[in-house]
Amino acid sequence: MFNLKNRYLVWRFPYLRPRKYDGSIIPDYDYKFTDLDCYPDGWRKLIIGYCKRLNKILKRYGELHNFYITDAKEKWGTARLYYSGVSNGDCRRQIDELLFRLETESWHVCSICGKKATYASQGYVMPYCYECTKNPKIFTCYEPIEEPKDE
Ligand SMILES: [Zn+2]
Repeated sequence: MFNLKNRYLVWRFPYLRPRKYDGSIIPDYDYKFTDLDCYPDGWRKLIIGYCKRLNKILKRYGELHNFYITDAKEKWGTARLYYSGVSNGDCRRQIDELLFRLETESWHVCSICGKKATYASQGYVMPYCYECTKNPKIFTCYEPIEEPKDE
């Protein structure tokens, strides 16, 4: 079942297929994992939403099969995707904008359940909703996330 789900994900979003560090494909890739797997459950839905928008941009410029992810990670409580392979400058600018929005939005999405995040753990910084801060398996110290001030 899991592999079928991954096959579908990679069919729909070819760049979720993991690659080697030099960007080359893994010839015996068996769909056991995708680049989405490094993210906690609460963020996966968010990221798939961004992949749909990413597909629109990539298809518009004919770059869907050129684009590939060089690094998928979490940094300071935000989801970050780094990429390569796109030659069109306008396309790259739109991708950069989109990935920056993902980074910003992920800070406000609970990494565990996907609801609105209102707290961040201290130390290893991740965003959580109030309910998920009650999970004793995660962290013990939280601070409220401040809302951005309107300018
Ligand atoms: Zn939550």
